[in-house]
Amino acid sequence: MTLYGYHGRILHAYLDDLRLEVETPDEAFYRTYVGGSALGMYYLLRDTPANADPLGPENTLTLALSVLTGAPISGQSRMTAVAKSPLTGAVGDSQGGGFFPAELKFAGFDAIVLHGRAPHPVYLWIKDGQAELLPAGHLWGKTTDAVEDILKEELGDPKIEVLQAGIAGENGVRYAALISMVNRANGRTGMGAVMASKNLKAVAVRGKNRPKVFDSKGLNALAKWGAKEFPESDAYGTGVLGTAEIVLSQNAVGGLPTRNWASGAYEGHEAISGHRMQETILLERDTCYACTVRCKRVVQVTEGPFTADPRFGGPEYETLSTFGSYCGIDDLAAIAHANQLCGQYGIDTISCGATIAWAMDCFKQGLITTEDTGGIDLRFGNAAAMVQMVELIARREGFGDLLADGSEAAAQRIGRGTEELVVAVKKLEMPAHMPHVKRSLGLIYAVNPFGADHQSSEHDPGYRAYPDRMAQIGLTNPQRSKEMNEAKVEFALRSQYVYSAMDTFNVCQFVFGPAWQLYDTAQMAEAIRLITGWDMTVDELMRVGQRRLNMMRAFNAREGFGKAQDTLPKKMFKALAGGRTDGMALSREEMETARDQYYAMAGWDGETGYPTCETLDSLGLDWIEV
Ligand code: SF4
Repeated sequence: MTLYGYHGRILHAYLDDLRLEVETPDEAFYRTYVGGSALGMYYLLRDTPANADPLGPENTLTLALSVLTGAPISGQSRMTAVAKSPLTGAVGDSQGGGFFPAELKFAGFDAIVLHGRAPHPVYLWIKDGQAELLPAGHLWGKTTDAVEDILKEELGDPKIEVLQAGIAGENGVRYAALISMVNRANGRTGMGAVMASKNLKAVAVRGKNRPKVFDSKGLNALAKWGAKEFPESDAYGTGVLGTAEIVLSQNAVGGLPTRNWASGAYEGHEAISGHRMQETILLERDTCYACTVRCKRVVQVTEGPFTADPRFGGPEYETLSTFGSYCGIDDLAAIAHANQLCGQYGIDTISCGATIAWAMDCFKQGLITTEDTGGIDLRFGNAAAMVQMVELIARREGFGDLLADGSEAAAQRIGRGTEELVVAVKKLEMPAHMPHVKRSLGLIYAVNPFGADHQSSEHDPGYRAYPDRMAQIGLTNPQRSKEMNEAKVEFALRSQYVYSAMDTFNVCQFVFGPAWQLYDTAQMAEAIRLITGWDMTVDELMRVGQRRLNMMRAFNAREGFGKAQDTLPKKMFKALAGGRTDGMALSREEMETARDQYYAMAGWDGETGYPTCETLDSLGLDWIEV
């Protein structure tokens, strides 16, 4: 039987005894679990025992592509990492792009499942369908750029792609990232720490084995349509200015988190904007494999106290916010330098910047002092202190050792009221989109299985702005951004199913999506059909997303996460100061009512927040116990 879009080969590495095996699942398996996040969830639920130590050998880490990865169309070169999170204790899940995902596909595998812990540091080398584990003692303790240089030299091929755990991962920083190309990250939930805990330093890949496309002519036409449409599309700004495009608009509506979420308006917004970056330090735009959008930034700073090497790309919107407005820092060079350090050491820029901002808030309130920080003057606005903290966190030195466990764990250790200032859900620090101006996003932050995430549902303005596209996913009752009602709950849930499917088909959310993106949801289903030959509909696509979401919730239930953890941090219920959202606070009652409505719509138990057996059975998940 001819396979379209995938190889039908999943590599299992049993690291305890350095053994490699290839699994060859059938088509029904691929059509059910597809790839990306859902595929990772399948192995996590099957192979990781309850209450496993996230940094112990029992935690199963899956690096999964999908049936679309490597096909010649924009937005498909992405990979999801799934394991139990060392930061949260709940499910961990993180997507990343670049060229590594497509190259792994060309190297002959659809996913890699990592079991156990190697007796000594190793790296995995995969070329044209063959895999081997090689010693990596000489790579341990080296920055990502050095590791990539050594591997290219050692393997004799400058075109290999490398995914790696950095020094932060080796040191068990609980929000350590996986890094490829030294500037692309599977950033969130600590997957870099999990990979390093397995004594696996890196995965290097190279190959020429491109899976067949079912309808190449049709896919080519869709790709050409995208390239032609792009300059006229609402995704164009993301291409030209990167995600940094939105700094100004977020600030204008009072939605740019400032000084650890005390305000939604930052007086230094222009200095850290995508527009200013373009005028000053932007060297060029970069891209992921076969993508026409080219949203990635490459910046350069050669003079002054903070430099930035173009090899490490440039800061995204979230990074500009967390190291910038969150910390009251308007120094673009300092932010670019912190971004570089996160690439070199392998750290999630969101949790890192947000944790430093929390510490700065504690410092401002007098809850911690220079006695705690080792003499560092951790004032808001102190760029040198912020950069120094990134280094200390990566190396787990001094006060950085405490911050390396994340803001909530650090607050629990310090006490003294510092807990009141934490801005995290399920211990995952909140990204830079404020639910005060996007009400349904607050609900998603609260209920999302792996913590507060801005890429797990459509943001509220999309409902009124794109009624035709919303109708494709069954949403026909447009609402204002600042409203929260039953129609908004339905918007949150149905768009969450679509985003959940996108993280399973592993497509970029700036290219495919239900609102402003280049391709709409129906076109996404069509792309899947053209690549795989499956008669994919929007309904089946959403069901794929619903299945992945329920697998995550079932895993969390097993680990003791349910309704009690589906809450927002206390700071959300305190009034903001300044800008368009001056005086605004979220309402607990409103959020709790929305949460109960959401559980009922999702088919989850209203008392516990767990998926019911009926819901799991209806999704073909009767093998999962809750
Ligand atoms: S839109 Fe940007 S992040 Fe997405 S695939 Fe294209 S270049 Fe990569």
